Amino acid sequence: MAWGYWNNILRVDLTTRKITKEEMDNDTYRLFLGGAGIGAKIMWEEVPSEVGSFNADNRLIFAGGPFQGHPVPGSAKFTITSKSPLTNTYADSAAGARWGPLFKRAGYDALVIQGKSETPVYIYIEDAEVEIRDARGVWGMDSYEAVDQVRKEVGDSRASVATIGQAGEKLVKMACIVVDKHSFAGRCGLGAVMGSKNLKAIAVKGSQKVPVSNLSLLRDYNRKYSKEIKNASIQSGLRPHGTPVLCITAEAFGDMPIKYWTEDTWPEGAKKIGAPQYTDLLSAQPYPCLYCPIGCHRNIEIEDPAKYKLKGIGPEYETLGMFGTNLLIDDLRAISIANDLCNRLGMDTISTGACVGLAMECYEKGIITKKDTAGMELKWGDPDVLIELVKQIGNKVGFGSIFSEGTVEAAKKIGKNALELVVHVKGLDFPAHDARACWGLVPTYGTGTRGACHMRGVEEDVEMGGFYIPEIGVTEEHAKFFSAEGKAHLTVKTQDYCALINSLVLCVFMPDGGGLSFTSILNIFNSITGWDWNIQEAMMCGERIFTLQRLINLRDGYTKKDDILPPKMYVPAKKGFRAGKIPPVNNLLNEYYELRGWDKEGRPTKEKLEKLNLPNLGIS
Ligand code: SF4
Repeated sequence: MAWGYWNNILRVDLTTRKITKEEMDNDTYRLFLGGAGIGAKIMWEEVPSEVGSFNADNRLIFAGGPFQGHPVPGSAKFTITSKSPLTNTYADSAAGARWGPLFKRAGYDALVIQGKSETPVYIYIEDAEVEIRDARGVWGMDSYEAVDQVRKEVGDSRASVATIGQAGEKLVKMACIVVDKHSFAGRCGLGAVMGSKNLKAIAVKGSQKVPVSNLSLLRDYNRKYSKEIKNASIQSGLRPHGTPVLCITAEAFGDMPIKYWTEDTWPEGAKKIGAPQYTDLLSAQPYPCLYCPIGCHRNIEIEDPAKYKLKGIGPEYETLGMFGTNLLIDDLRAISIANDLCNRLGMDTISTGACVGLAMECYEKGIITKKDTAGMELKWGDPDVLIELVKQIGNKVGFGSIFSEGTVEAAKKIGKNALELVVHVKGLDFPAHDARACWGLVPTYGTGTRGACHMRGVEEDVEMGGFYIPEIGVTEEHAKFFSAEGKAHLTVKTQDYCALINSLVLCVFMPDGGGLSFTSILNIFNSITGWDWNIQEAMMCGERIFTLQRLINLRDGYTKKDDILPPKMYVPAKKGFRAGKIPPVNNLLNEYYELRGWDKEGRPTKEKLEKLNLPNLGIS
């Protein structure tokens, strides 16, 4: 057995109701680690191109890595991997709260779900005991009610529950998976895959100790690094203010979406919704995942006005961007209500904000009219429109139901030139970071294996001067706006680094905001596994995992033409920090392919695959 692993995976077939435990060998962990890496390997082997996202043969893989099961700072994370209904690509999405550590302590490295139940069910895991239980009494509940009900049924308020809300049940294509009413595997619609299997929730309790190579050293590291991360996150503002600390800076650098990516500046709006206003107005407090010294999530409280009364989780930076500046809404309390509705329905706030932005732009341009919206005026800046559309999209009712298929499919149905207005790559809506401001985002979004995603590269934080990884040459040299020099190289490095982080599995805010160095991450890793890896070996593993994800998409029909950016990214700003600046998209992508060792069509060469030890999987 490998230290830090159980060497087994749990497989649940919802069609046959068969539950099996399978062995996973040490070599597989050395090649793919865990989390997104193990997820990609299983997707490659078990889900061929012809299997659609809602096909019973699609897999839903919940996986931790070597970091789960001990109080490693930032180790509450786990990943969920599947084929996305929104993008039809490989997709992984991470969440935190408590599920990852508890599942690992139940004695498993991964859970593979396949098949489809005839009636709604949930899965209950308590160490070696695994049951498929009737969920007809839970189906139809929102995600918060479902967590409470499942905990009641399993008789333990400390059980961790990953569930879907009504959006997942109704196969809304941006449905997310909600964990413990606290954390969200938001992107790519994996909640809808869960809904397509008639699977409402997975509850876990675990009580076993994961064996590690050097426990006393690991304990020392955990104590030392937790203290350092906490101090660094106080300095960076992440602990006192959470991710809303980014708003004012991001807007000033032209990084925030304004009016669905058609305008350039809105400093007064960013000031109203970002920190410190956010912290003061919403009485915001840190709400940490298990073993987290930062607590980027916020608990908020709104007393007044009565229509916005709320006590619970507050919006993150991405939601403030997509529901706030993106829609010209500066009412923080209304944004918080829309965020809460999304959480309960179980919907990704980024893609939902993109849907509402597209609807408002189409309305402004006369592409849709009051006749289409049943009389609703889709005016920019109107919080009532946002709240109403969230309800309609999540429940698949009224005009909003057209958007439950995502922006691309909605635009195709709307017709005229609506499709040209959508800001996406491979069907995944841009998060709240503008590639015209941070040029490293061009190849990151273009080649992102789940579409346009900043969390699979994080170079916007490098370019804005807030995060460096000196061990791999990611330094302040890269923090140069409007220069293409070194940006493709930056993307290659940070993508591989993020693939590694998502396979360990570690919350990326531990290094990015908490200052945990790459060397310290490897110290933790080596004390757990006893493998004595160096930086090069770790980065090679990250590259292998990223490349396998790329290969899945290539096999499934994606090509170089799907790496391009949407038309709005070729329109320069008229004013503000990025006025007149446009990134050289084709040059950046070509340079990126070359650095990767891919051919001109964006396909990894045979030599590259051999170097990465991937031919053993039968890839040529
Ligand atoms: S930094 Fe935020 S997302 Fe990461 S573990 Fe802590 S609370 Fe969870």
